[in-house]
Amino acid sequence: WQVSLLERHAAVAQEASGNPQGVLYLKLSAHGTALSQLIVSGFGYTRRLLESLQRGSDWDDCGVLQLAFNAKEAERHGQLAAAFPEDLLQWLEQPEAQARAGVGVAHGGLYYPEGGWVHPPALCQAQAMHANIELLSHHEALELRKVADQWQAFDDERLLASAPVVILAGAAEIKRFAQSAELPLKRIRGQITRLPETADSRALATVVCAEGYVAPARLGEHTLGASFDFNSDDLTPTTAEHQGNLAMLEEISSDLLSRLNISEQPLENLEGRAAYRCTSPDYLPIVGPLADLQTFNQTYAALSKDARQVPDLACPWLDGLYVNSGHGSRGLITAPLSGELLAAWLDNEPLPLPRSVAEACHPNRFALRKLIRGK
Ligand SMILES: Cc1cc2nc3c(=O)[nH]c(=O)nc-3n(C[C@H](O)[C@H](O)[C@H](O)COP(=O)(O)OP(=O)(O)OC[C@H]3O[C@@H](n4cnc5c(N)ncnc54)[C@H](O)[C@@H]3O)c2cc1C
Repeated sequence: WQVSLLERHAAVAQEASGNPQGVLYLKLSAHGTALSQLIVSGFGYTRRLLESLQRGSDWDDCGVLQLAFNAKEAERHGQLAAAFPEDLLQWLEQPEAQARAGVGVAHGGLYYPEGGWVHPPALCQAQAMHANIELLSHHEALELRKVADQWQAFDDERLLASAPVVILAGAAEIKRFAQSAELPLKRIRGQITRLPETADSRALATVVCAEGYVAPARLGEHTLGASFDFNSDDLTPTTAEHQGNLAMLEEISSDLLSRLNISEQPLENLEGRAAYRCTSPDYLPIVGPLADLQTFNQTYAALSKDARQVPDLACPWLDGLYVNSGHGSRGLITAPLSGELLAAWLDNEPLPLPRSVAEACHPNRFALRKLIRGK
C-alpha cells in the first residue's frame, strides 16, 4: 500500500495523542469480555512496538500500580488477580505496593510489571515514518466523495487526495463526513497537569493510579492526569481542573504531593494541556468497514420484527471506506492493534484478534442494535 496521511495540523499528534505522557493502563474484567480481551492483546502489541523506541524519553517500562482505593476496587482486584497470570498482574499488599512505588501509598493494589508510560507523539511519529507513508500536513478533509472506484477527500472545492481505500482515523471529527455522521461518537475533554520534578519526587519508581494517574518524570516533568468534562467545548487549561487533578494526586499519594512542593507556588502557575478523548456508548473502539446506513436499515428491516432471523442478504458496504476511532481513554493500548486489524481486513489475512472481538468493535453494531431493539 502507498498511504497518504492527511493531517490538518503541521504535524501528527497535536490533539488527543499530544500529551507528554500517557499510561499503559489496563482496565480489565475478570469475565473475559470483548473489551478485556482487546486490552490484553492491544497491550502486548503496543509493548512490542515500543521496544524499538527510546526508553526514558519515548517510553518507559517502569510498571504500573493500580491502587485498591476503596472496598469495591479491592474486591475487583482480588478477582483479577485470580483470573490473570502473574507475569501480567500481581496483587501487592500495602507495604509491598509502597516499596514498588518508591513513595508513600495508603493502599495495596494491582501491579502490572510490564506496564509503564509512553510519550504518545513519539509512538505516532514512529508509526507514520514508514517509507510508504506520505504525511500531507495542513490538509484538512471537509468532505468525502466517491467517483467511480475512488474516494476523494475535499477541502471545500480543492481535491486533497484520492484513493480506492480511505481510513477515517480522526477521532470524533469523523462525524463531519456524511458517510460516518451517524456513528455515536462523543467527545470528552480531559486535562493533564505538568509537575516539575523535585529531588524528593525522583523517588517515584512506577506509574501509580487511583481515580487519576501520575508518572515518574520524563525529561524533568511528571504528568498528572486527567480530568473528565463531558460538556466543555474549550481547550484552554483551567485552574479548577488543575485543582481537581491535585485532589486525585492526594488520593494517590499525599506523600508524593508534599514531595512535589506544590503548596509553595500559586495554582495559577501550574501548566497543563487539554484535549478531547473520543468515546463510544459501549466503550469499545469503532474499527472496521462502513456500510450505507439507509440501505442497511432497509436491507435488514425484517430484524426489527424478529431478531432471530438471519437474513441471507449482502451488506451494502461503502466499498473501501473504513473507520478506526472511539479509542476513549486507552488509545495507547487499543489504537495500534486496531490499525493491524484493519490491515488484516484489507489484505484478507487472518485477524490478529478473535473474530468475536473484531465483531464487537464493528461499526455496524450500533445500527444492528437499533434495528433489533428499536432504539
Ligand atoms: C487528557 C487525556 C489523557 C489521556 N490519557 C491516556 C492514557 O493515560 N493512556 C491511554 O492509553 N490513553 C489516554 N488518553 C487517550 C488517548 O490519548 C487517545 O485514545 C488517543 O490519543 C486517540 O488517538 P486517535 O489517533 O484516535 O485520535 P487523535 O490523537 O485525536 O488524532 C486524530 C488526528 O486526526 C486529525 N484530524 C481530525 N479530523 C481531521 C480532518 N478532517 N482532516 C485532517 N486531519 C484530521 C487530528 O488533527 C489528529 O491529528 C488520554 C486522552 C486525553 C485527552
